[in-house]
Amino acid sequence: VAPPKGKPKWLRVKLPTGKKYTQLRGLVEKYDLHTICTSGSCPNMGECWGEGTATFMILGNICTRSCGFCGVKTGRPENVDWAEPEKVARSIKIMGIKHAVITSVDRDDLKDMGSIIWAETVKAIRRMNSNTTLETLIPDFQGIEKHLDRIIQVSPEVVSHNMETVKRLTREVRIQAKYERSLEVLRYLRANGVNRTKSGIMLGLGELEEEVIQTMQDLRDVNVDVVTIGQYLQPSKKHLPVKEFITPDQFKKYEEIGLEMGFRHVESGALVRSSYKAHKHID
Ligand code: SF4
Ligand code: SF4
Repeated sequence: VAPPKGKPKWLRVKLPTGKKYTQLRGLVEKYDLHTICTSGSCPNMGECWGEGTATFMILGNICTRSCGFCGVKTGRPENVDWAEPEKVARSIKIMGIKHAVITSVDRDDLKDMGSIIWAETVKAIRRMNSNTTLETLIPDFQGIEKHLDRIIQVSPEVVSHNMETVKRLTREVRIQAKYERSLEVLRYLRANGVNRTKSGIMLGLGELEEEVIQTMQDLRDVNVDVVTIGQYLQPSKKHLPVKEFITPDQFKKYEEIGLEMGFRHVESGALVRSSYKAHKHID
């Protein structure tokens, strides 16, 4: 199959605007705050920030893994910054964020895989922002229960972990991860006290429709409540190529199938990112 040429019109985005967006942008620059929304130049900033939602990345900018789709740098990560939980909590306060999504690089180099900083970050945010709700978009912690328990104990409103792709493509798309292990992580979280679990996949990597539907069913089978489905876009020439641009009608079809399967929320669309409309997923 020849690779698709040029982006279809539904992927062209207008620049974010709005009073709340402009105000937040100013604060981020003034206080040098770090959000995924700005560093990843996310197309949804106008919408998310307008609704008081932002995503923060903890545990540094260098990942120990090297997923074929991901723009984050790989290599030897920085030392853990024990002041980071307070810094993130302060950023959320300054920005007046109502719903924060926290995510991190994978830290397979650390004995606790970063789970202690994760828990401390949630606690610091709670201390400084009593009305802010939280989604923690966590790594798989290699499926080790004591690390997952640290997340469960601090009770974020939503805990998410992304499958990213269908079973057949998992090796190619995220070499150090395992499809079954990610499902087991989601099952464990839900079975051990997490109220709301969530997962996301990207399309356009060569998956078939029936494989997408099977992945959704696998997620429902471990009681995942929310699924996000978006278009994969290649961060650079070194990353996996886009095999296909999924049409808006196809995204709509997955949304209908997902709702029928019993997901509480399904976000399915070309520009959907895993934290898109995240504030809606707490109820
Ligand atoms: Fe930020 Fe996520 Fe919204 Fe993008 S989708 S603007 S990364 S919260
Ligand atoms: Fe990117 Fe996460 Fe994979 Fe690291 S583990 S390369 S941050 S997707």
